[in-house]
Parts: sequence; structure tokens; C-alpha cells
Amino acid sequence: MKYKNNYDYLLADLTKLNGVGEKTMNILKKKKINNIFDLLWRLPKSYTDRTLVSKVCDLQIGEVQTIRVAPLKYQFPRVRNLPNKVNCLDETGKIDCIFFNSHEGYVRKILPLNEEVTINGKISNYKGRYQITNPTYISQDSSLIETIDNKYSLTEGITEKTYNKIINQILKKLPILEEWHNKEILRIFDNESWNDAIIKLHNPKNIENYKSNFYKRLAYDEILASFLVNSEIRRKIKKIKKVSKTFNQKAYNTIVDQLNFNLTNDQKKSLTEINKDLNSKSKMFRLLQGDVGSGKTIVALISSLSVINSGFQVALMAPTEILARQHYALAQKLFPENINIELLSSKSENIEKKRIVKELENNKIDMVFGTHAIFQKKIIFAKLGYIIIDEQHKFGVRQRKLLSDKGGDNCDVLLMSATPIPRTLTMSVYGDMDVSIIREKPNNRKEVKTYSKLESKIDDVIKFVKKEIKEGNQIFWVCPLIEESKKIDHQSSVTKYKFLNKIFPNKVALLHGKIDIEEKEKILNNFLNKKFSILVSTTIIEVGIDFPNANVIIIENANKFGLSQLHQLRGRVGRGIKQASCILMFKTNLSINAKKRINILKNSNDGFEISEEDMKLRGFGDILGFKQSGVKNFKLADPIQNEDLFLLAEKEIKKMEDENLSIEKYKTLLKLYDQADIINYIV
Ligand code: ADP
Ligand code: MG
Repeated sequence: MKYKNNYDYLLADLTKLNGVGEKTMNILKKKKINNIFDLLWRLPKSYTDRTLVSKVCDLQIGEVQTIRVAPLKYQFPRVRNLPNKVNCLDETGKIDCIFFNSHEGYVRKILPLNEEVTINGKISNYKGRYQITNPTYISQDSSLIETIDNKYSLTEGITEKTYNKIINQILKKLPILEEWHNKEILRIFDNESWNDAIIKLHNPKNIENYKSNFYKRLAYDEILASFLVNSEIRRKIKKIKKVSKTFNQKAYNTIVDQLNFNLTNDQKKSLTEINKDLNSKSKMFRLLQGDVGSGKTIVALISSLSVINSGFQVALMAPTEILARQHYALAQKLFPENINIELLSSKSENIEKKRIVKELENNKIDMVFGTHAIFQKKIIFAKLGYIIIDEQHKFGVRQRKLLSDKGGDNCDVLLMSATPIPRTLTMSVYGDMDVSIIREKPNNRKEVKTYSKLESKIDDVIKFVKKEIKEGNQIFWVCPLIEESKKIDHQSSVTKYKFLNKIFPNKVALLHGKIDIEEKEKILNNFLNKKFSILVSTTIIEVGIDFPNANVIIIENANKFGLSQLHQLRGRVGRGIKQASCILMFKTNLSINAKKRINILKNSNDGFEISEEDMKLRGFGDILGFKQSGVKNFKLADPIQNEDLFLLAEKEIKKMEDENLSIEKYKTLLKLYDQADIINYIV
């Protein structure tokens, strides 16, 4: 078989392998193994050593062992269903080989009388005689059997023998790839080539040898590939030329003068970065990252006003209507009267919607707020210059790229996220964007006091809630996520609702996954307008909504959540002037480790710090909820164990960007490693 590029063999489909037919291929495909390259990343868990040959007298019943014997006599029974038998022996004793469902001719061929044969299989005992039933391996060439084979976590339907055959076949045919790393980098891994590294990865002696150079080299390959893709997207976007917008100091003052607070330094710094991008001739593709309550909205609105004053339209997309409405209301308050803003809501009358659509097309509207509905096909902007997307952290790279394309060349893009992520992950998750970070909290903010309570002490909690309600405060009550099953969660929230409703009649509302969006928004609005005091909910209360009057959050079965999640939940309260509290409830006394985790939360109010700690304690997994978004999951690299490699890759990327180096020499690496296929239209 000839391939155009030598890496094409690795990307070829599985049927190109000897011994892999349709059936095996389909089994592997179910495990998301689609090509030869994918197979390389299922690592051996342990190995079987068949090099040790035992004498018959030393055999252990029940063990898989290798023997070297001579067949002495055949017993082919005339009765159907009885197995064929061959008596064999070595100088120390006798053993019978038993074959079910076998042909006489076959048995004669593989076990010729009086010749030495090597056999491997499980030893059993029948009426005081040693037996091997249907031996796994039989050969006159002992070197074929006396090997060490890897044990992989096998898929049903594929035997260890077949799997090892497949892997060995690949390792033998591994194409020699041209080295993509430069000398300095390679030296760090003791000049381990990709080929050698892969072979070592499957060498039984190297199982779980995570610290060795071959392993690190492969992990680094993986990290660099993912960073390169992101970096290349960012470079591509930056090359797009646009009409620049002018920063407008007067507009800035108009808004800031109305605020009863000063902007934090980080807010100012982010604004400077955003304004610089808006003013430049290249398209902006920037992420504004900041903890819940760090004040991103105001930054978005101030920058919008400059864009509007430069003669462009702005669109702000929020994840929910209620959030869109809140942003809209704030803009109404802060923007000068001559600025024309609208809220495109699914609840508006059709005639109203039609008007807004028409006026957007006629450039009569300067800024529109709404959910993803504002990007429907039928909505045409006359002169869209700026898209802001709030709380977007669930988008993957591909979706973001589509978004950036959507507004056209003249359109700058700002994404806002309240999910702080560990430093090592920033490049993998957001490497396609420039990032502005608001770390500093507004200084008028009181820290939310965090307590832990046993569920058996619920009476104390109720007492506390009574007091808070008396003072006119509102409470979020988050119900336990008992099981992954939505049904059970739903029941537990209903039960809690009934329980609380008895104690606080007419003061409790319930929100869960089965309530439809309109009803949900109504409930949230009523809560916002203080129509009731306690909101029981299972689903995470909408990110981003400002409930200034809610200052207690109670989270049941708190150990079911990651620290970052708990921190986000806690961020729902403490936006007003009163002291806020977060009560974490637990079913049982906390273990030492669990206490450690909860203490991190009690002692820190910094989402970035918490996310770092959370990752260290729980591993990468899905603590951040990125899994659905197609964010890269690494095969070998581990953001905690390989932190140095992540930083190394980041440095390398920075150098390439600064020196404007082409990614051409990494072409093979990218072709092999980029699962998102993005690179196919880049390289
Ligand atoms: P988030 O970053 O979570 O989107 P918001 O923009 O909703 O945060 O801001 C939360 C609250 O903090 C709002 O009520 C806002 O008016 C207020 N706020 C924003 N910036 C400051 C500041 N510098 N000082 C005091 N309060 C601020
Ligand atoms: Mg927000």
C-alpha cells in the first residue's frame, strides 16, 4: 500500500490492518477508535510473561503456563461431542491436551507425534491428571510463544492475542516521521524521537512510567498541537482588516459619572485593552474573564458606547431573556437619550419584533439586547460593529470561530465568562482569543461568610432563615444532586419545597428542570421583585443575574459539587450591601480531605485560586463543565502532573507568535493530533 504522506498510514482506517475485518473494526469504532493512530493511545495496563517455561512436575493448577512437551498418543473418540485428546509428556511427567470442536487433521498437524512442541494455556486437573483445554498457543517454534505480551483493557469481542497482534503490526510499520521539534526542545526530552517514544510507550517494561522522557515527549506533542491550533486561529483572525472605531472620552465620562462607585483597576485595565483593540485596524477577538460579580457588564456597556459613537451597531447576547433584560435595563439607565436601544424578546408582540428587525436593517437601532435569537438568519444588521456575548464558557473553539465570522470583517467580538480556570488550562481552553482578566473585586463588596452544617442540624438553619426573612432578605435553597438521574433530583426538590412551604407558607417557590422556560423566567422575575422569600431549585440558578436582595444561599449535599461550582453558586449572593452567607450542608461528618477542600472555599473568595486548588484535588475531569463543549481532552498530558510542559508549550507558542514563525514544520504533528479538524482549513 502506497501513501502520499508517510503519516497517512497512521490516519488510515482500521481495515488496512491485517487481521482486522469489518467485525473488529466496528467493535473498535464503538470505543471511538477510528484509525490506526487512535489505537496507539490505548495503553497497556499490565503484561503476560510467557518466557518462563515450566516442567510438568512443577505446574500450578489454575495458572496460565508455558510447557515444552512431546505428543505421545492421539485419542480421537468415535462418539460425537466428546473432545479430542492428545497425551503428551516431558522428562518429568504427563499432561493431556484437550480439544473441543476440533478436526482430527488439525490436531495431527499442530501436535505431530514425538516432536517437541511449545504450548501455553491454563492448567487444570482431571481425575488426577494435568490437562490443558483448548491451549491458547501451540507452536514448534518456541520463540513465537515465549514472549511478553501486553494486557490492554480489552473490548468485548477482541482477544488479547488479536489485540497484541494488531498493535505489534502497527509498531513494526510505524512510519519514520520527520522531527517537528527544534533541537533545544528535543534536548529536554533527551532527544527521544516520536517513533522511539511510541514504541517505548507500548513496551511492557515501561508501563506507567509517566516520568520518563519518552512519555513527556509524547505529552508535550499533544499539548503543543492543541496550543498551535488555537494560536493559528488567533493569528488568522488578527489578520482580518477592519475599519477602526474611535474611543470616545465623552461617552466614557457620561457613563462613569452616573455610577455611584469607582471602576476597579482591573475594570479600567480591561477597558484600555478592549479600546485598544477597537481602535486598531485588526479585528478584535477577546475574552473578558472575571469572577461572578466582578463587574463585567459595565465594561461591556462602556465599550459599546464608543462603538456606537463611531457609527456602528452593537449586539449583546445573553444566555437567558431575564439576563438580557437586566443588561438592557442598565443600558437604558446609563446611555444618553439619543442612543436607540432595543430588547428583542421572544415575549414581544409579533408586530413589535417585526419593527425591531426592520429598524436593525435600516440602521435606526444602535444596540440590541437578546438571547441567541438576535443571531437568527432573518436578522440583518445594517452596520454591525461589535458583538458581545455574555457567559459563554460552554462554547468550544469551533463555535467561537463561527461566531467571529458571523459579524463580518468589521465586527469586533467580546466574549465574557465568569468561569475562572486554572492558569495551565488557559491556553488550551481560550488560546484562540486574547484575554483580559478582572481579578479584583469591587471594594464595596463584603465577603460571603461560608459555613458548613450537618443535615441533622437543619433546625438551626431554619431558625437562621426565619431571622433573615424577618429582616426582609431572600434565600436560595439549592437541592442535592443525589444521583445523575434528573428524576430523583426533581423529586428531592419537590419534597424540600413541600417541607419549607409548611414552615413558611406562601413564601416559597420552586424551580426545577421540568419547568418550561417561560414559567421559569416568571418565577425568577417574581423572586427579583420580592414576591416570595425562598427559591428552592435544583438546576444551577442562572449565571449572571443580579439579585441584590438575596443574601443567603443554602446548598444541600454540598460534597456533590466541585469547589468551582460551589464558588459560582455562592457568587449568586452578596451583591447588595448586607452581609451575605453561604451554608453548605452535608449528610455526614466530613473526612479530613473533604474538610481541606471546604476550607479552601471558606478561606478564599478568588475564583482563580479556587479553580487551581479544585483541579489539584479533583483532577482535570469535568470540574469546569467543559466536556460538552468539545474542549480538548488530552490522551496523555495531565494539566497537574505536566504543568511544566504546559508552560513550556506556552513559551514556545509565544516565541513563534513574536517572531512570526510559520507553523509549516508542525504540519505532521497537527494532522495527526488535531481532532477538531480545524487545522484542515488552516494548513
Ligand atoms: P459580572 O462580572 O458577574 O457580570 P456584574 O457586571 O453583573 O458582574 O456586576 C455585579 C454588580 O456589581 C452590579 O450590580 C454592578 O453594578 C456592580 N459593580 C460593577 N462594578 C463595580 C465597582 N467597580 N464597584 C462597585 N460595584 C460595582
Ligand atoms: Mg455578568
